[in-house]
Amino acid sequence: MKVSHIEHLGIAVKNLEEAIPYWENVLGLKCYNIEEVADQKVRTAFFKVGQTKIELLEPTDEESTIAKFIEKRGEGIHHLAFAVEGVEDALADAESKGIRLIDKAPRGGAEGLSIAFLHPKSTLGVLTELCEDKHNKQ
Ligand code: ZN
Repeated sequence: MKVSHIEHLGIAVKNLEEAIPYWENVLGLKCYNIEEVADQKVRTAFFKVGQTKIELLEPTDEESTIAKFIEKRGEGIHHLAFAVEGVEDALADAESKGIRLIDKAPRGGAEGLSIAFLHPKSTLGVLTELCEDKHNKQ
């Protein structure tokens, strides 16, 4: 697969309203989008650092994977997302190299991205997201 850059870092937080002031007031970044992703049971807040984004993830339901992550490991870095050309091909490539996939096919994520996750058991513990912005090529 061809990774062009780190698209974003996903960070699990208990509460967006409590987390955003740190990113804005201490780091001087600006939250430019807040979006709920219903099928993932999260609310997300986005910041830009160069061409990489920070995606804060707040669970909207106890059954959310983010709620379970926070319960188990506390708030903190949840996943690393790489921008790739062609998520479908990248998934097939990873699978052919013995990587376990969480998503067999790309699905819709926040910010209109096409996304898919690789299983952390196959990626040395780092939950890895592959994503592609089909509408807004960088
Ligand atoms: Zn993500």
